[in-house]
Amino acid sequence: MRFEPDGRYLPDIDAASEADLALASRACPFSSAGPDEDAIADRLYPELQKHPAIGRHASCYVGHVAEAGFRDRGSSGGLTSWIAARLLEDGDVDGVIHVQPVARDPGANAIDSPLFHFAVSRSVEQLSKGSKSHYYPVELSAVLSQILSRPGERFAIIALPCFIKAIRRLALQDPRVASAIGPTIGLVCGHLKTAAFAEMLAWQVGIGPDSLSAIDFRHKLPEPPATSYAMAATGRNGERTVRPMSKLAGRDWGQGWFRLNACSYCDDVVGETADISIGDAWLPGWVEDPAGTNVTIARSARMQELLATGLSSGRLAVQDLSADDVANSQAGGFRYRRDALELRLAEAKDKGRWVPKKRVKPARRITGQRKRTLEVREQMARFSREAGAQARQSGDFSSLLARMQKLVERERQIARPKLRHKVMRWLRSLRAGAPQ
Ligand SMILES: Cc1cc2nc3c(=O)[nH]c(=O)nc-3n(C[C@H](O)[C@H](O)[C@H](O)COP(=O)(O)OP(=O)(O)OC[C@H]3O[C@@H](n4cnc5c(N)ncnc54)[C@H](O)[C@@H]3O)c2cc1C
Repeated sequence: MRFEPDGRYLPDIDAASEADLALASRACPFSSAGPDEDAIADRLYPELQKHPAIGRHASCYVGHVAEAGFRDRGSSGGLTSWIAARLLEDGDVDGVIHVQPVARDPGANAIDSPLFHFAVSRSVEQLSKGSKSHYYPVELSAVLSQILSRPGERFAIIALPCFIKAIRRLALQDPRVASAIGPTIGLVCGHLKTAAFAEMLAWQVGIGPDSLSAIDFRHKLPEPPATSYAMAATGRNGERTVRPMSKLAGRDWGQGWFRLNACSYCDDVVGETADISIGDAWLPGWVEDPAGTNVTIARSARMQELLATGLSSGRLAVQDLSADDVANSQAGGFRYRRDALELRLAEAKDKGRWVPKKRVKPARRITGQRKRTLEVREQMARFSREAGAQARQSGDFSSLLARMQKLVERERQIARPKLRHKVMRWLRSLRAGAPQ
């Protein structure tokens, strides 16, 4: 996998044989060659009930870790790190594959030295160093080579839905992967960004790409709600700047700044092929707590057992949640990945462009204002991705931001009710109020 100047990974396939490409296609989560999420989950959890949005599930919960040291370090309730820590301590696995920050060499060029990578943690202490959500591109090849060189060991993996799907597909083809990978922990996912997202946030607080040495995308603030978190960027001189996301351009996830193109062709929001899926409880009654709360979907018996014993021992403060409420906590994600995906597929088909086979069928049910909003948002994603390469090279995000502000303004205009509609509404209200 090559780390490209625009801040994303691309596969290096020039020297690959036809046979290698055919194998890779069966593992790539965005290729139509292998089984889809339904087929994988049907095979893994045939006895579990199926929900149209969250897929197969045994039980769903909302809550946080009560045991000290997890929630405060975590993005939300700290459950992801807690589950992984239990697997290590109980001896289920020898290590946990997850994303860790990289200590950048002082002279390193930001263009080709990523800030995060997949690594293996073998202790709870190591694991805790990777806490938080890293909205940054990563790839699995290096860590896979590492674990395959140690036959007999077993690993848990924490990853986004498409990575878990890739691992499941790979395990079907390669028995070494099937025996090395144990429990899978999926993070609920809105979309993944290019590296330019981190650099643009840091640039807005005066830290240029080459001076950025670390970033925390989910610095918790003491005031409610949990959605009002901050970003903390550390420069090469060690100085750390914390800035609420509400003060930074590019914070709106719906607008999709720097969203990877593949994410526009994904229909798995929660990680339907994982043994457990964990996300943020963006739900009334929970989102008000700035300390952070998780939603979780358990599928395997071991994950149900860990949650039940965590609850009975008082180490977890969780309670049952309905599958519908888990889906409601990700309403925006499902609108984009299911309803709006129909339209993207239909448009791509009309233009003769290749798209992967999805569980969602192409359709043109979205029209009018919503369709225009989606169009301008796709432009935002595409333009920020393309112009990101130039901004990374120059270390200057000003022209990208100026152009993005114009697109944001266009989105605002689309959302604004038209004068004609306002007059019609006013006339209707007059008629309603007139004596009969
Ligand atoms: C790109 C991205 C998009 C997301 N979108 C949504 C969303 O739309 N809705 C939602 O509810 N939740 C989303 N999440 C998940 C959410 O941000 C939290 O990660 C989740 O709620 C777990 O919180 P926690 O406190 O339990 O995790 P923690 O205890 O902080 O542990 C997080 C663990 O995840 C690992 N990790 C972090 N980033 C990555 C990554 N990119 N790939 C693999 N492992 C990683 C860390 O190494 C750490 O081990 C997203 C996460 C990411 C990375």
